[in-house]
Order: sequence, then structure tokens, then C-alpha cells
Amino acid sequence: MKINFVDLKKQYLSIQAEIHEGIERVLQNTSFILGPEVGRFEGNFARYCDVAHAAGVNSGTSALHLALAALGVGEGDEVITVANTFVATVEAIVYTGARPVLVDIHEDTYNLDPDKVEAAVTKRTKAIIPVHLYGQPAEMDPILALAEAKGLYVVEDCAQAHGARYKGRRTGSMGHCGCFSFYPGKNLGAYGEAGAVVSNNEEIVQRVKMLRDHGQSEKYHHKIIGYNMRMEGFQGAVLDVKLRRLNDWNAARRENARLYGEYLAGVDVVIPRAIPYVEHVYHLYVIRAKRRNELQEYLKEKGIATGLHYPIPVHLLEGYTFLGYKHGDFPVTEQYATEILSLPMFAELTKEEIAEVAEAIRTFLS
Ligand SMILES: *Cc1c(COP(=O)(O)O)cnc(C)c1O
Repeated sequence: MKINFVDLKKQYLSIQAEIHEGIERVLQNTSFILGPEVGRFEGNFARYCDVAHAAGVNSGTSALHLALAALGVGEGDEVITVANTFVATVEAIVYTGARPVLVDIHEDTYNLDPDKVEAAVTKRTKAIIPVHLYGQPAEMDPILALAEAKGLYVVEDCAQAHGARYKGRRTGSMGHCGCFSFYPGKNLGAYGEAGAVVSNNEEIVQRVKMLRDHGQSEKYHHKIIGYNMRMEGFQGAVLDVKLRRLNDWNAARRENARLYGEYLAGVDVVIPRAIPYVEHVYHLYVIRAKRRNELQEYLKEKGIATGLHYPIPVHLLEGYTFLGYKHGDFPVTEQYATEILSLPMFAELTKEEIAEVAEAIRTFLS
């Protein structure tokens, strides 16, 4: 039996009729860029995130870039984020002209360690980007308190945590704004590229809307230098259909994670641990194992697809040597990069498949 890492086809077949209706509406109204489908999705997604406003853009990377730009982050500023993240978080900071300042992760959460953030703050610091990695919200209270005390912006990178909660609060609703990716494999995925910025602050979202559309406040009135980073009509239509299922899909992911935990009991791996006061949405199910590379190879031979998130920390990537970091700067991130293994995880994964993955890991390690 072959077990995929994600299976977008299964999900599509379960919502086929509604997706076709949405696509057909766009074909009929010909609003291929922004338009009513994007507008409706923005309203529904803002409501879902417990915030007042949302702006649909063309990717999660653009969402981060435009959120920082809307806050006035630029040349001479520093933005603090975490070494263990997808490269896009750091890329977006670089795009604005600001300097990324990285901090290490906490051993238990794999997210930015709040105790290490304060030491990274300088006179130039303008914002902090906590990343809710793998679907688990970062430890937000100390970050929000520090930001408040130092007058810094907090931009949440929610690209892996649609619908997750921290002490009852949705990701994206805690900082000054939240940035989402709807890359197809994310918990809420478009059928192409898409992203969004959400916020309770209308000014921030209005500014993002201007920036995404060539700096226009209204047609032909280009108030600022903007970009072409608009969301497509098809993506708005698809996302609005899928948003209705997001809670069910996240619940299914949580149940799958519970089953992995049950089936992997007694196996010599470290399984993910949700902090008690968060609602984890398991975008990824990341274990840590000895002889990780051999284990991954063994699973591949058994037809089980896995992933690495991420095998080379950002500060050690070739394109990022200009930041001046070196091996040993972020020991937890670097250690974990050699041990982490992302197991198949999606809502439609079956109990039998989870059991098979766990059994293969047990066999390899015993
Ligand atoms: C996916 C992702 C992004 C970027 O999103 P795109 O839509 O692919 O541009 C940013 N940050 C994190 C943590 C991600 O996982």
C-alpha cells in the first residue's frame, strides 16, 4: 500500500460539486482578479479568524511582505523572527529592506523561544514575527507583553496554523496583524497561489489592499508605489467553499495526531506535544528520531512518503550567509534539523494508514 504525504485529490472529490459551482460563477461574472468571490471570502475569513478585516493577496509570502510594508518596516529596521521556519518568513523581511534577526526555538514547542526574544531586541527593532509552526501557536503572551513594553509590532506568521487557538484566541487575531498562506497543501489550500492578511486594524488592511493593487486608493489614483499581488477570483471562490469545512478537517487532523500518538507509544521517537492551552491544528505531524535519514529511506521503500521541515535552518542556507550567522548560533534548531521527520498528515488519512506508518517505524527502530 502506498501512503501519500498529502492527498489533495481525495479532498477535491469530497467537495467537487460546490467547487465546480464556485469556478462556474467566476467564469460567468468574469471577475478573474479580486471581485465578488474574493470579497466574500475576505469577509468570511475575517469572521472565521475573529478579526474585523482581511485582504486577499497572491501568496503567503506576499502577505508577510505587504503586512510589514503596511506597518512602515523598511531600511534601517530590524525584525525578529525564528530560525526554525520556512524561508519565506525571512525572505519577506529582506524584501522590505529591513534586517532579519533570528532567535532559537523552545525545546518543547519547536516555536520561537520567548525567553530568547528580549535579548535580540535593539534600538532598531521594529517588529516581531512569531511563526505558528506545524500548526501549534507560538507562546504568544510573553511576546505580546514584550512588544507592548518596547513599542514593537507583532506580525503573526499563520501560514501553518489556520484555525488554531492560543488560550481561546485564533491565530491571526492576537498580533497587530496575521499573515496566511493558502498554498495548496496548507490546512486551508487554494487551487493555485494565494494568501491573506487579517487584522482588527482597518488602516493596516486598507494599506495592504492599496499595496497589493499598484498603490491605488481608487482607480487611477496611485497614492504610493505598490505591487501586483492581488488574489485571483478562482482562488477566492475555491477558498470560500473550503473554509466551510476547515473546522471539520482540523478536527480530523487532531484525531489523526491522537492516533499516531497511540500507535507510536513505546517507540523510541519523540512525538509532538501540544501545550495544554492551545488548539493545535497539525498542519504537519513532526516526530524526532535517531538515524532519521535511514528511517526516512526505510519508509520510502515501504511506500510511505515523508518530509523534512526543515532540513537546513534558514541561517545556514547559502542565500542567507549575508546575515552573518554561523553553525552553532541556534543549537536547538540545528540539532532538531537532523532529527525531525514529518509523517503523512491530512484530514482524509485513514486509521489503517496511520497504523501502518507507526508499525513500519516500530519495526525499523526495534
Ligand atoms: C507556506 C509558508 C509561507 C509562505 O507561503 P506561500 O503561500 O508559499 O508564499 C510562509 N511562512 C510559512 C511558515 C509557511 O509555511
